[in-house]
Amino acid sequence: MAHDTGRGHPERAERIAVIAAALEEHACFGFALQESPQATDAQLTAVHPARHVAAVERLCAAGGGVIDSDTVASPRSGEAARHAAGGAVALVDALLAADAVRVGASLHRPPGHHAEAARAMGFCLYNSVAVGAQWALDHHGLERVLVLDSDVHHGNGTNAIFHSEPRVLFVSVHQSPLYPGTGPAADVGSGAGHGTNVNVPVPGGSGDETFCSVVEHLVVPIAREWRPQLLLVSAGFDAHVDDPLAGCAVTDAGYAAMARSLRRVADELGVPLGIVLEGGYELGALTRGLGATLETIAAEPVAPGDERAPHPLAADALERTRELLAW
Ligand SMILES: [Zn+2]
Repeated sequence: MAHDTGRGHPERAERIAVIAAALEEHACFGFALQESPQATDAQLTAVHPARHVAAVERLCAAGGGVIDSDTVASPRSGEAARHAAGGAVALVDALLAADAVRVGASLHRPPGHHAEAARAMGFCLYNSVAVGAQWALDHHGLERVLVLDSDVHHGNGTNAIFHSEPRVLFVSVHQSPLYPGTGPAADVGSGAGHGTNVNVPVPGGSGDETFCSVVEHLVVPIAREWRPQLLLVSAGFDAHVDDPLAGCAVTDAGYAAMARSLRRVADELGVPLGIVLEGGYELGALTRGLGATLETIAAEPVAPGDERAPHPLAADALERTRELLAW
Protein backbone atom coordinates (compact mmCIF):
# COMPACT_ATOMS: atom_id res chain seq x y z
CA MET A 1 0.00 0.00 0.00
CA ALA A 2 2.94 2.34 0.66
CA HIS A 3 4.28 1.97 -2.89
CA ASP A 4 2.76 5.17 -4.30
CA THR A 5 2.73 5.32 -8.10
CA GLY A 6 0.86 8.63 -8.28
CA ARG A 7 -2.51 9.69 -9.60
CA GLY A 8 -3.98 7.77 -12.51
CA HIS A 9 -1.39 4.98 -12.54
CA PRO A 10 -3.01 1.59 -13.25
CA GLU A 11 -0.65 -0.28 -10.88
CA ARG A 12 -2.11 1.32 -7.76
CA ALA A 13 -2.57 0.66 -4.07
CA GLU A 14 -6.29 -0.06 -4.53
CA ARG A 15 -5.29 -3.36 -6.17
CA ILE A 16 -4.10 -4.61 -2.80
CA ALA A 17 -7.07 -3.09 -0.95
CA VAL A 18 -9.60 -4.98 -3.08
CA ILE A 19 -7.61 -8.22 -2.78
CA ALA A 20 -7.50 -7.82 1.01
CA ALA A 21 -11.26 -7.22 1.04
CA ALA A 22 -11.88 -10.31 -1.11
CA LEU A 23 -9.68 -12.44 1.17
CA GLU A 24 -11.60 -11.21 4.20
CA GLU A 25 -14.97 -11.80 2.54
CA HIS A 26 -14.05 -15.37 1.57
CA ALA A 27 -12.17 -16.39 4.74
CA CYS A 28 -8.93 -16.35 2.71
CA PHE A 29 -10.41 -19.12 0.53
CA GLY A 30 -9.27 -21.53 3.23
CA PHE A 31 -5.63 -20.42 3.17
CA ALA A 32 -3.71 -19.44 6.30
CA LEU A 33 -2.64 -15.81 6.09
CA GLN A 34 1.04 -15.12 6.64
CA GLU A 35 3.00 -11.86 6.77
CA SER A 36 5.80 -11.53 4.24
CA PRO A 37 9.29 -10.68 5.40
CA GLN A 38 11.48 -8.37 3.36
CA ALA A 39 13.86 -10.22 1.05
CA THR A 40 17.42 -10.08 2.33
CA ASP A 41 20.28 -8.57 0.35
CA ALA A 42 21.58 -12.09 -0.31
CA GLN A 43 18.20 -13.24 -1.66
CA LEU A 44 17.91 -10.21 -3.96
CA THR A 45 21.51 -10.27 -5.16
CA ALA A 46 21.21 -13.94 -6.14
CA VAL A 47 19.23 -12.49 -9.08
CA HIS A 48 19.99 -8.76 -9.21
CA PRO A 49 23.43 -7.11 -9.16
CA ALA A 50 24.02 -5.26 -5.87
CA ARG A 51 24.25 -1.98 -7.80
CA HIS A 52 20.65 -2.41 -9.00
CA VAL A 53 19.37 -2.89 -5.45
CA ALA A 54 21.47 0.08 -4.30
CA ALA A 55 20.09 2.24 -7.14
CA VAL A 56 16.47 1.45 -6.19
CA GLU A 57 17.13 2.18 -2.53
CA ARG A 58 19.04 5.39 -3.29
CA LEU A 59 16.15 6.65 -5.43
CA CYS A 60 13.64 5.87 -2.66
CA ALA A 61 15.82 7.46 0.01
CA ALA A 62 15.98 10.60 -2.13
CA GLY A 63 12.19 10.81 -2.10
CA GLY A 64 11.49 8.62 -5.13
CA GLY A 65 11.22 9.50 -8.79
CA VAL A 66 10.51 8.36 -12.28
CA ILE A 67 12.47 5.34 -13.59
CA ASP A 68 10.83 5.16 -17.01
CA SER A 69 7.54 6.27 -18.54
CA ASP A 70 5.68 3.46 -16.70
CA THR A 71 7.79 2.86 -13.64
CA VAL A 72 7.99 5.09 -10.61
CA ALA A 73 9.34 4.80 -7.09
CA SER A 74 8.07 6.57 -3.97
CA PRO A 75 9.95 6.77 -0.66
CA ARG A 76 8.67 3.36 0.51
CA SER A 77 8.65 1.56 -2.86
CA GLY A 78 11.93 -0.23 -2.21
CA GLU A 79 10.56 -1.56 1.05
CA ALA A 80 7.36 -2.74 -0.69
CA ALA A 81 9.37 -4.42 -3.44
CA ARG A 82 11.48 -6.18 -0.81
CA HIS A 83 8.30 -7.53 0.79
CA ALA A 84 7.05 -8.65 -2.64
CA ALA A 85 10.28 -10.56 -3.31
CA GLY A 86 10.41 -11.76 0.31
CA GLY A 87 6.85 -13.02 -0.07
CA ALA A 88 7.90 -15.17 -3.01
CA VAL A 89 10.79 -16.54 -0.94
CA ALA A 90 8.50 -17.22 2.04
CA LEU A 91 6.04 -18.94 -0.30
CA VAL A 92 8.80 -21.21 -1.63
CA ASP A 93 9.91 -21.97 1.95
CA ALA A 94 6.35 -22.83 2.98
CA LEU A 95 5.85 -25.05 -0.06
CA LEU A 96 9.14 -26.90 0.44
CA ALA A 97 9.12 -27.22 4.24
CA ALA A 98 9.07 -30.67 5.82
CA ASP A 99 5.44 -30.22 6.85
CA ALA A 100 4.78 -28.44 3.60
CA VAL A 101 1.52 -26.99 2.41
CA ARG A 102 0.85 -28.03 -1.18
CA VAL A 103 -0.53 -24.79 -2.55
CA GLY A 104 0.01 -21.15 -1.74
CA ALA A 105 0.07 -17.65 -3.11
CA SER A 106 2.20 -14.54 -2.67
CA LEU A 107 0.04 -11.48 -3.24
CA HIS A 108 1.93 -8.21 -3.38
CA ARG A 109 2.69 -5.19 -5.42
CA PRO A 110 4.73 -3.96 -7.17
CA PRO A 111 4.68 -6.85 -9.65
CA GLY A 112 8.02 -8.27 -10.74
CA HIS A 113 8.14 -10.13 -14.03
CA HIS A 114 9.30 -7.21 -16.20
CA ALA A 115 12.26 -6.43 -13.93
CA GLU A 116 15.48 -7.64 -15.51
CA ALA A 117 18.56 -8.41 -13.46
CA ALA A 118 19.93 -4.88 -13.72
CA ARG A 119 16.88 -2.91 -14.79
CA ALA A 120 13.55 -1.89 -13.25
CA MET A 121 10.83 -1.53 -15.87
CA GLY A 122 7.14 -2.06 -16.60
CA PHE A 123 5.92 -1.21 -13.03
CA CYS A 124 8.47 -3.72 -11.64
CA LEU A 125 11.49 -3.04 -9.39
CA TYR A 126 12.67 -6.53 -8.39
CA ASN A 127 11.72 -9.77 -10.09
CA SER A 128 9.92 -11.50 -7.23
CA VAL A 129 9.16 -14.80 -8.96
CA ALA A 130 12.78 -15.04 -10.12
CA VAL A 131 14.04 -14.35 -6.60
CA GLY A 132 11.74 -17.11 -5.33
CA ALA A 133 12.77 -19.58 -8.03
CA GLN A 134 16.48 -18.83 -7.51
CA TRP A 135 16.00 -19.37 -3.77
CA ALA A 136 14.45 -22.75 -4.50
CA LEU A 137 17.56 -23.69 -6.50
CA ASP A 138 20.19 -22.23 -4.17
CA HIS A 139 18.72 -22.74 -0.72
CA HIS A 140 16.55 -25.81 -1.22
CA GLY A 141 18.78 -27.48 -3.79
CA LEU A 142 16.05 -28.05 -6.36
CA GLU A 143 17.16 -29.04 -9.83
CA ARG A 144 13.98 -28.35 -11.79
CA VAL A 145 11.57 -25.43 -11.25
CA LEU A 146 8.82 -24.74 -13.78
CA VAL A 147 7.59 -21.14 -14.00
CA LEU A 148 4.42 -20.42 -15.96
CA ASP A 149 3.83 -16.74 -16.75
CA SER A 150 0.15 -16.27 -17.55
CA ASP A 151 0.21 -12.47 -17.37
CA VAL A 152 -0.95 -10.98 -20.68
CA HIS A 153 2.42 -9.24 -21.08
CA HIS A 154 5.60 -11.18 -21.81
CA GLY A 155 7.64 -11.81 -18.66
CA ASN A 156 10.76 -10.42 -20.28
CA GLY A 157 12.63 -10.11 -16.99
CA THR A 158 12.12 -13.72 -15.92
CA ASN A 159 12.79 -14.87 -19.49
CA ALA A 160 16.12 -13.02 -19.53
CA ILE A 161 17.20 -13.93 -15.98
CA PHE A 162 16.82 -17.67 -16.65
CA HIS A 163 17.71 -17.58 -20.36
CA SER A 164 20.71 -19.87 -19.99
CA GLU A 165 19.57 -21.60 -16.74
CA PRO A 166 18.66 -25.22 -17.49
CA ARG A 167 17.15 -25.74 -14.02
CA VAL A 168 14.33 -23.26 -14.64
CA LEU A 169 11.87 -24.03 -17.42
CA PHE A 170 10.00 -20.81 -18.20
CA VAL A 171 6.75 -20.88 -20.17
CA SER A 172 5.08 -17.59 -21.09
CA VAL A 173 1.77 -17.07 -22.86
CA HIS A 174 1.33 -13.43 -23.81
CA GLN A 175 -0.48 -11.17 -26.24
CA SER A 176 1.65 -10.10 -29.21
CA PRO A 177 2.17 -7.44 -30.35
CA LEU A 178 2.02 -5.76 -26.95
CA TYR A 179 4.37 -4.28 -24.35
CA PRO A 180 7.26 -5.07 -23.86
CA GLY A 181 7.59 -6.49 -27.39
CA THR A 182 9.74 -9.48 -26.45
CA GLY A 183 8.97 -13.22 -26.36
CA PRO A 184 8.70 -14.49 -29.93
CA ALA A 185 8.20 -18.23 -30.33
CA ALA A 186 11.76 -18.42 -31.67
CA ASP A 187 13.14 -17.32 -28.28
CA VAL A 188 13.79 -20.73 -26.75
CA GLY A 189 16.58 -19.90 -24.30
CA SER A 190 20.32 -20.06 -24.82
CA GLY A 191 23.46 -21.94 -23.83
CA ALA A 192 22.75 -24.63 -21.26
CA GLY A 193 19.17 -23.35 -21.14
CA HIS A 194 18.50 -23.86 -24.85
CA GLY A 195 14.97 -25.26 -25.00
CA THR A 196 13.97 -24.24 -21.46
CA ASN A 197 12.34 -20.97 -22.47
CA VAL A 198 8.99 -21.64 -24.11
CA ASN A 199 7.36 -18.52 -25.51
CA VAL A 200 3.81 -18.59 -26.84
CA PRO A 201 2.80 -15.22 -28.30
CA VAL A 202 -0.95 -15.12 -28.98
CA PRO A 203 -2.98 -12.58 -30.94
CA GLY A 204 -5.15 -9.93 -29.34
CA GLY A 205 -8.65 -11.24 -28.74
CA SER A 206 -7.38 -14.60 -27.51
CA GLY A 207 -9.58 -15.95 -24.75
CA ASP A 208 -10.20 -19.03 -22.66
CA GLU A 209 -9.82 -21.43 -25.56
CA THR A 210 -6.24 -20.28 -26.21
CA PHE A 211 -5.00 -19.58 -22.69
CA CYS A 212 -6.52 -22.74 -21.18
CA SER A 213 -5.16 -24.84 -24.04
CA VAL A 214 -1.66 -23.50 -23.44
CA VAL A 215 -1.91 -24.65 -19.82
CA GLU A 216 -3.65 -27.99 -20.47
CA HIS A 217 -1.94 -28.96 -23.71
CA LEU A 218 1.50 -27.40 -23.28
CA VAL A 219 2.34 -26.79 -19.61
CA VAL A 220 0.78 -30.04 -18.39
CA PRO A 221 2.60 -32.32 -20.88
CA ILE A 222 5.86 -30.39 -20.35
CA ALA A 223 5.48 -30.91 -16.61
CA ARG A 224 4.85 -34.64 -17.11
CA GLU A 225 7.99 -34.99 -19.24
CA TRP A 226 10.32 -32.63 -17.39
CA ARG A 227 9.11 -33.49 -13.88
CA PRO A 228 9.63 -30.18 -12.07
CA GLN A 229 9.99 -30.30 -8.30
CA LEU A 230 8.08 -27.04 -7.90
CA LEU A 231 5.48 -25.24 -10.01
CA LEU A 232 5.40 -21.45 -9.79
CA VAL A 233 2.96 -19.23 -11.62
CA SER A 234 3.61 -15.59 -12.47
CA ALA A 235 -0.10 -14.91 -12.31
CA GLY A 236 -1.30 -11.76 -13.97
CA PHE A 237 -5.00 -11.15 -14.44
CA ASP A 238 -4.68 -8.62 -17.24
CA ALA A 239 -5.58 -11.15 -19.96
CA HIS A 240 -9.11 -10.80 -18.53
CA VAL A 241 -11.71 -9.56 -20.99
CA ASP A 242 -12.40 -6.55 -18.74
CA ASP A 243 -8.77 -5.46 -18.33
CA PRO A 244 -8.04 -2.02 -19.81
CA LEU A 245 -4.32 -2.52 -20.55
CA ALA A 246 -4.56 -5.34 -23.10
CA GLY A 247 -6.92 -6.92 -25.60
CA CYS A 248 -7.38 -10.52 -24.58
CA ALA A 249 -10.63 -12.12 -23.48
CA VAL A 250 -10.04 -14.58 -20.65
CA THR A 251 -13.04 -14.95 -18.30
CA ASP A 252 -13.30 -15.78 -14.60
CA ALA A 253 -14.15 -19.34 -15.65
CA GLY A 254 -11.00 -19.41 -17.79
CA TYR A 255 -8.82 -18.53 -14.80
CA ALA A 256 -10.52 -21.27 -12.80
CA ALA A 257 -9.92 -23.77 -15.63
CA MET A 258 -6.22 -22.86 -15.84
CA ALA A 259 -5.90 -23.25 -12.07
CA ARG A 260 -7.68 -26.62 -12.22
CA SER A 261 -5.21 -27.94 -14.81
CA LEU A 262 -2.28 -26.74 -12.72
CA ARG A 263 -3.59 -28.19 -9.46
CA ARG A 264 -4.31 -31.50 -11.16
CA VAL A 265 -0.82 -31.88 -12.65
CA ALA A 266 0.81 -30.70 -9.41
CA ASP A 267 -1.09 -33.43 -7.56
CA GLU A 268 -0.28 -36.00 -10.23
CA LEU A 269 3.44 -35.23 -9.91
CA GLY A 270 3.27 -34.79 -6.13
CA VAL A 271 4.80 -31.31 -6.27
CA PRO A 272 3.72 -28.01 -4.73
CA LEU A 273 2.09 -25.16 -6.62
CA GLY A 274 2.76 -21.50 -5.84
CA ILE A 275 1.05 -18.43 -7.28
CA VAL A 276 2.93 -15.12 -7.43
CA LEU A 277 0.77 -12.11 -8.32
CA GLU A 278 1.82 -9.99 -11.30
CA GLY A 279 -0.58 -7.65 -13.14
CA GLY A 280 -4.33 -7.17 -13.37
CA TYR A 281 -5.66 -3.64 -13.51
CA GLU A 282 -9.45 -3.83 -13.57
CA LEU A 283 -10.24 -4.20 -9.91
CA GLY A 284 -13.30 -6.44 -10.34
CA ALA A 285 -11.59 -8.68 -12.90
CA LEU A 286 -8.48 -8.86 -10.70
CA THR A 287 -10.38 -9.97 -7.59
CA ARG A 288 -12.64 -12.40 -9.47
CA GLY A 289 -9.80 -13.93 -11.52
CA LEU A 290 -7.56 -14.23 -8.47
CA GLY A 291 -10.45 -15.46 -6.32
CA ALA A 292 -11.33 -18.14 -8.87
CA THR A 293 -7.66 -19.17 -8.95
CA LEU A 294 -7.29 -19.38 -5.17
CA GLU A 295 -10.59 -21.16 -4.69
CA THR A 296 -9.69 -23.70 -7.37
CA ILE A 297 -6.16 -24.50 -6.23
CA ALA A 298 -7.40 -24.86 -2.65
CA ALA A 299 -10.01 -27.44 -3.65
CA GLU A 300 -9.38 -31.09 -4.35
CA PRO A 301 -9.37 -31.36 -8.15
CA VAL A 302 -12.32 -33.32 -9.44
CA ALA A 303 -13.07 -32.07 -12.94
CA PRO A 304 -11.60 -33.93 -15.88
CA GLY A 305 -9.13 -32.25 -18.19
CA ASP A 306 -9.95 -30.02 -21.09
CA GLU A 307 -11.43 -32.37 -23.65
CA ARG A 308 -11.07 -29.93 -26.52
CA ALA A 309 -8.42 -30.43 -29.17
CA PRO A 310 -5.15 -28.63 -28.46
CA HIS A 311 -4.92 -25.08 -29.78
CA PRO A 312 -2.43 -25.02 -32.70
CA LEU A 313 -0.17 -22.52 -30.90
CA ALA A 314 0.04 -24.83 -27.89
CA ALA A 315 0.64 -27.88 -30.06
CA ASP A 316 3.40 -26.12 -32.02
CA ALA A 317 5.18 -24.97 -28.87
CA LEU A 318 5.00 -28.47 -27.38
CA GLU A 319 6.44 -30.05 -30.52
CA ARG A 320 9.24 -27.47 -30.63
CA THR A 321 10.09 -28.01 -26.95
CA ARG A 322 10.09 -31.79 -27.36
CA GLU A 323 12.54 -31.48 -30.26
CA LEU A 324 14.84 -29.04 -28.47
CA LEU A 325 14.94 -31.03 -25.25
CA ALA A 326 15.16 -34.31 -27.15
CA TRP A 327 12.16 -35.97 -25.46
ZN1 LIG B 1 0.79 -7.58 -17.39
